[in-house]
Amino acid sequence: MNVRISASLVVNDMGQIACMDCGHEFGPQGKPWKEAAQIDEAPLKGSGGHPYSNASNILLRRFYCPGCAKLIDTETALHGDPFLNDIVKL
Ligand SMILES: [Zn+2]
Repeated sequence: MNVRISASLVVNDMGQIACMDCGHEFGPQGKPWKEAAQIDEAPLKGSGGHPYSNASNILLRRFYCPGCAKLIDTETALHGDPFLNDIVKL
């Protein structure tokens, strides 16, 4: 039985973090999963309209499922910052 851990991810019967839509596995629970995602980084400046017009050094990171291209998660960061990893343990 899959256990839902976010709007897009589950922990499946094998203890793997997986895409809720296509089942693509990102790795075992208890380990960071974002390294297994397709990642897109773009300047945050202008991406959210006028309120984000002065953040020239801030990046918007988008993490996509390699299996179905669904957007799984987003975060903001400075260039070179490590990922903000959520460690999932059931
Ligand atoms: Zn997927």
